[in-house]
Amino acid sequence: MVIAIASGKGGTGKTTVAVNLARVLGDVQFLDCDVEEPNAHLFLKPDLAERIPARVMVPEIIEEKCTYCGKCAEVCAFNAIAVIAPKDALKGSVLVFPNLCHSCGGCFLLCPEGAIREVPREIGVVETGRAGAVRFVHGRLNVGEAMSPPLIRQVKKHVDRTRTTLIDAPPGTSCPVITSLEGSDYCLLVTEPTPFGLNDLVLAVEVLRVMGIPHGLVINRCDIGDDGVESYAKANGIPVLMSIPFDREIAEGYSRGLIAVDGSGAYAEKFRGLYEAIRNHYEADRGHQRQRRHG
Ligand code: SF4
Ligand code: SF4
Repeated sequence: MVIAIASGKGGTGKTTVAVNLARVLGDVQFLDCDVEEPNAHLFLKPDLAERIPARVMVPEIIEEKCTYCGKCAEVCAFNAIAVIAPKDALKGSVLVFPNLCHSCGGCFLLCPEGAIREVPREIGVVETGRAGAVRFVHGRLNVGEAMSPPLIRQVKKHVDRTRTTLIDAPPGTSCPVITSLEGSDYCLLVTEPTPFGLNDLVLAVEVLRVMGIPHGLVINRCDIGDDGVESYAKANGIPVLMSIPFDREIAEGYSRGLIAVDGSGAYAEKFRGLYEAIRNHYEADRGHQRQRRHG
């Protein structure tokens, strides 16, 4: 079962929930897909034994074959190629902007002269290792790199569907989040009971509904704020699987890279209960879907 842990906004405690779940479950895979700012390793402290460069293919122009016809620039939906036609005595030129290239392959296919070759460009690295029984994978995007989805896909190639897999998704509801959530069986949304938390939660729920991924909530710092999130969850039939009150000791431990369940049997019990609640909701949702399909 692949469980993604996501949040509409940053700072809700998503990674805290993800690493605590991993710790109590033990023999799981943990994929940190927050490749722009991976931080789960600071808590799980894996020995990162393997380092795999992550590359995408981008175009390189073979000048001597190019006729400056402009087809490559026309086909590129991302403005990653510009063609300057020759004029009078001035030579033409094709400019490639690798940072804008989505590696769709359109220009390679459509160049009538075969004047484009693919060359690899490194965008980051995928690191794998173990943290006790946890199989750990994360990606690190190079500084200044704009597009994280290709690296997230390379992290997700490590998903082993025969085991329980936890995916720590980036915050928000944009392309990197969608890429992280794709193929998940369940999504745990971590939120906080504030108007900002509710606003971003609503957006995240809309994304999950479109993607058809069953989901439940964890309300972090549940004793600070208002009841807007709970009312919304109730009105929309979204189960609240766990509520975590603010705990100064836990917050201080977090700032030092400590995992709450390591120091508290009560927390460990709560997180085991959370996993059971996820499984139960997932199975119930599958049952409802089967019923709907069979009329
Ligand atoms: S499509 Fe090929 S030949 Fe035409 S401008 Fe681009 S690289 Fe040159
Ligand atoms: S591979 Fe696709 S995105 Fe990249 S330059 Fe060519 S057409 Fe544009």
